[in-house]
Amino acid sequence: MNAPITPPRVRGACPGALVPMAVADGLLVRLRVPGHTLPAATALAVADLARRHGNGLVDLSQRANLQIRGVTEATLPALTGALRDLGLVNGDPEAERVRNVLCSPTCGLDPACAPVHPLAQALDAALSINQDLWELPAKFNFVLNGGGQAPLADAVGDIRFDALEGTDLFRVAVGGDRAGATTLGCCPADAVVRTAVALARAYRSLAPGRRYRMAGLIAAEGTAALSRRVPLAPVPPTPRVTPPATPPATPASRPLLDQVLGRQRGWLGVAFPFGGLRAETLGALARLASTLRLTPWRALLLEGGGSGQAAAVEALGGILAANDPRLALSACSGRGACDSGLSDARADALALAKVAPHLLAGGHIHVSACAKGCAHPGPTPVTLTARGDGYDLGLLAPAGGDAQWRDLTRARVTSLVAGLEAVYTGRRRPGEDLASFITRMGGPAQLVPLIETSCRRAEESARVQS
Ligand code: SF4
Repeated sequence: MNAPITPPRVRGACPGALVPMAVADGLLVRLRVPGHTLPAATALAVADLARRHGNGLVDLSQRANLQIRGVTEATLPALTGALRDLGLVNGDPEAERVRNVLCSPTCGLDPACAPVHPLAQALDAALSINQDLWELPAKFNFVLNGGGQAPLADAVGDIRFDALEGTDLFRVAVGGDRAGATTLGCCPADAVVRTAVALARAYRSLAPGRRYRMAGLIAAEGTAALSRRVPLAPVPPTPRVTPPATPPATPASRPLLDQVLGRQRGWLGVAFPFGGLRAETLGALARLASTLRLTPWRALLLEGGGSGQAAAVEALGGILAANDPRLALSACSGRGACDSGLSDARADALALAKVAPHLLAGGHIHVSACAKGCAHPGPTPVTLTARGDGYDLGLLAPAGGDAQWRDLTRARVTSLVAGLEAVYTGRRRPGEDLASFITRMGGPAQLVPLIETSCRRAEESARVQS
């Protein structure tokens, strides 16, 4: 018997398949796929469901989930029923909500990655059946990092396990990414699931009001109480931890994506601008591979497939190179997908990619459809914030922050960004990234007259040529 559909949640909650979130383009249904692995037939079926029961758009989330957009109250029951038949949905919304297990998507493809997929599936099952764990906060999550070529070093976990290279051991840590989490000890692979469950239960007993997540608990009370409840062996004194996630970044390099995208040993990695793609594209990708893997890098890994696969993927709009300028854009879902959206932020961002290849090779442009800045809360070298019918443009500012120009038309935005492109291209030092360049030039205020002059020259040149 099908479980009842819980009423849609309000904005800001954590959506699931049975507890979808209402956004401007309808209900958002998030699929938590155990092990992040979709056989081609399942991916095809999901693509078909997204087309028939949603608005045909799917998102790749930063927690390696798949989101079906534009579902309606009328289509939701049929969608969740079909997803349950595919084994992608739990029977109970509360169990569904806490199945937040991120594991290395390259497990089984990369020989250097520890076998974390079976552990992730066992932990997923434990979260599904142990009702006391359903009381965990909605975003409480677990990270199982097998290391290897594409480690989950930057993923933040309330409870995390990082494979210790060359051993059967995992470092057990809480409240952070690999570098920032607090180490509690280590355990062998066959103890990972029971340790994860024990730590989750310890968290529940120590933070009964759920005022904070694991990092907050550690900050408030330290690790002693957790360690008393879940004793662990110390990490070996000279652990051979999996190699660092990324060498130092340089302009135009996205080191981790270099190791994920394009033809790699064992998979073809493909990203899409802003992690969004059409259901038809997902279906077409499924026909090009035996299995699709979801990743936290908003990219898919295609297993299997013959020659011509890469060309076919590019023809579908897929991004195979880490230095593709579209990957240096961020934009929120914007008007039509969010009630607060004042602009089609993604379309406006993609239009800028055409006039700013060097800016995007050396930095990051963020376009936000309102001052909230959901897609990137921090400052970026170039930030556009929709306001009324136009945009504010700020340098080294967050969305809604200081702006050097206000109430710009799109044409004026394009002109100013092209002006900055010309100034940066002409005056940057070798290897200098955009943020460093702006700072060296004296900051945003000093750059404004140079950019305005560049714009005037471009306009005069265009007038002469016309
Ligand atoms: S930044 Fe504003 S418009 Fe964009 S998704 Fe967030 S709330 Fe919506």
